[in-house]
Amino acid sequence: MRKSLVVVVLLVIVVLIAIVIVRSATPALDLPTQISTLGQATPLTVHVADKHGVHSASATVEQNGASYLVWQMTQPSHAIETTWNFTAGVKTTPQLKNGKAKLIIEATSNDLLCRSARLERDVTVVIQPPTVSVDSEQHYLYIGMADLVTFSVSGDYTAAGVHVGDESFRAWPMPAGKAGMFSLYAFAWNMPQSTIPVVFASIGVGNDVTSPITVIFPKKEQPHYTVHQFDVSDAFIQKVVGELDPNGSGDPVARFVKINSEMRKANNKTLSDLRFKTADHFLFSRPFQRQPHSQAESNFADLRHYIYHGKEIDQQVHLGYDLAATQHVGVQASNDGRVVWAGALGIYGNCIVVDHGYGLQTIYGHLSRIDVHEGDMVKQGQVMGLSGMTGMAGGDHIHFAMQLDGVQIDPKEWWDPHWIKDHIVKRVELPGFQP
Ligand SMILES: [Zn+2]
Repeated sequence: MRKSLVVVVLLVIVVLIAIVIVRSATPALDLPTQISTLGQATPLTVHVADKHGVHSASATVEQNGASYLVWQMTQPSHAIETTWNFTAGVKTTPQLKNGKAKLIIEATSNDLLCRSARLERDVTVVIQPPTVSVDSEQHYLYIGMADLVTFSVSGDYTAAGVHVGDESFRAWPMPAGKAGMFSLYAFAWNMPQSTIPVVFASIGVGNDVTSPITVIFPKKEQPHYTVHQFDVSDAFIQKVVGELDPNGSGDPVARFVKINSEMRKANNKTLSDLRFKTADHFLFSRPFQRQPHSQAESNFADLRHYIYHGKEIDQQVHLGYDLAATQHVGVQASNDGRVVWAGALGIYGNCIVVDHGYGLQTIYGHLSRIDVHEGDMVKQGQVMGLSGMTGMAGGDHIHFAMQLDGVQIDPKEWWDPHWIKDHIVKRVELPGFQP
């Protein structure tokens, strides 16, 4: 008899516990507005849903190993849904510094089990948000080419420069100790013409303060990039495949197309990455020079349809000038600078890249011989090697190209002293410039 009573009591206890567990709740936490920065006093809204109400809730900010309570609810609530509005930031938590932090919201259910929920957001503390002020000049832009903008940024920021669509160009302090900053930027050959270049100051991902540059696209003077059919012979395929894919096997045409597309892409990435090997000052003081006595066989941004036995096998855009002179002509540095690449580079064959400062670089491809080394300083007109047909080249020529912060541009403006005077020298100090 007694035994069965114990069993019944135990059963009741188990059932009660089960009821408590089943009926208990976990709060559902939500921050209805997107929060990514904390400023002086950033308004925050926290929404909590819990069928038994909320026993306790708090918000803390963690930064550099320390934790700061920024808000706490004052008394338990039985409401199923509760919304709290409060502010967090430097005003109430002066210990916060500029930089990354974590906002943590916690709430505990108002029932026996006191289940709790926690929500974390990565935030950036910005004590003084940046403001950007751009020069009031009219910027004449040409598709595929470059320009220079001056501006000033105040407040706190982690990065600044120019955005053109999805491309980014760095900002540099004005030379000669002048106030403000500048960016050399490019309007890439394939950028939609409706894109407005903007100066930006960044305070963490997705938190850019921007200001547009006043740009004018003189319609009449825009370049008309050309389209050409490029007949691919079996001999050319053999030459390219034998040189750039010597150990490969299979259909030579497929291997050629792979080299032309995938290797080209990888080589262009290698070129683009050289933007980080740049001087923080101008290394030149004269207009750029075009290889003397050379014939342009192909211009910048020429769209090439590759035709093999009457059938199109590939399409690529040629991002440079093919300059032909005599065979094995001495390849001259277009301007003073520092060699940042001297060696083989896939489709570009034996290749030299010269840095001229502020992300501006010249590229020389298909050489038969290289006579400079990475790190060498070169002078305008200095012979750096001999022309040839290494890489994706069917005849002896120099593939001459230029890039700005890794974006390949039409070099022709930089050959023009008037353009350099109007777009560069008028806006920043270019010591010793002689047009
Ligand atoms: Zn070329």
